[in-house]
Amino acid sequence: MHHINHQSAAIAFEFRAYRRLFRRPIKTNHGIWKYREGIILKLSDHQGRTGFGEVAPLPWFGTETQSQAIAFCQQMPTRLSVGDNFSILPTLPACQFGFELAYRNLTRDIHCAELDIRHYSALLPAGEAALNAWSPLWAMGHRTFKWKIGVAPVAVELAWLSQLMERLPLGAQLRLDANGGLCEIVAHHWLDRCDRLGRRIEFIEQPLPPNCFDGLTKLARRYQTPIALDESVTALDQLKAHYYRGWRGIYVVKPAILGSADRLRQFCEDCPIDLVVSSVFETDIGRQALIDLAIALQASSSENPRRALGMGTQQWLPNDGLDDPDWEALWQRLR
Ligand SMILES: [Mg+2]
Repeated sequence: MHHINHQSAAIAFEFRAYRRLFRRPIKTNHGIWKYREGIILKLSDHQGRTGFGEVAPLPWFGTETQSQAIAFCQQMPTRLSVGDNFSILPTLPACQFGFELAYRNLTRDIHCAELDIRHYSALLPAGEAALNAWSPLWAMGHRTFKWKIGVAPVAVELAWLSQLMERLPLGAQLRLDANGGLCEIVAHHWLDRCDRLGRRIEFIEQPLPPNCFDGLTKLARRYQTPIALDESVTALDQLKAHYYRGWRGIYVVKPAILGSADRLRQFCEDCPIDLVVSSVFETDIGRQALIDLAIALQASSSENPRRALGMGTQQWLPNDGLDDPDWEALWQRLR
């Protein structure tokens, strides 16, 4: 008789959804973002090992919605096999990332790498509030700051920029993020001003909408201030397409919504790109995956500048236990 040991192959699958209200709403060119919703995945095998993963969708960046991700989790069997090679459609990139992460965490020894705080950029509030908000973040050790632009008239924002640059200590670097919200004329105003600030602006992120490849390329050629693509390259296929079309500026990579982190890593080994690993306000589980990935990517392409991770997001999230590095405790919070 042919015996199959189902017991040894079985992995239990569970998931729990979360919703976190931001301490204050995040204003971007996409609108006002009030809370972060996502899903924690948990795999457990018969050896008592667990693997946690996180699904953190961002629909206005083209991912599945929270309810689509929940529907996907609901149709998954509650017991999986070790050899299960289930495929996840590219239309569910956040689920792709989350399940891959849960499987990886199931079989690896968890060690929580942490970088020095100066390797994390800190997100400033949009608008005038940035003028004072940088100071406690500087005191904590942050040296790279990110400021969302395109939320007020350009003349007003350029005046705030001048004040901010007067206040920021030398040694601070500022990233500007337009979220694709500028028109070409306004983008020229910004870049012209940035060039005159003598490299204190690390880069300007997505000045034009994602469908403006030629416009973005023209800006990149004309100005010294580097341009980073973000909304243009939210999925791995888009990132590859921009690389093959010749984009040699910076790529902002949000692994949690990009799809398979393994395939991203493979691509970066073959085609070293100048990239910034960036958060979409994950819990500690997703956050740790980003740090690990950034360390792995840096190791594989040492010729590129080491850019601060776009991760100084903790101060925007509530004290709800979901930033706990003890993931079992984090999971228990979601009961
Ligand atoms: Mg961005």
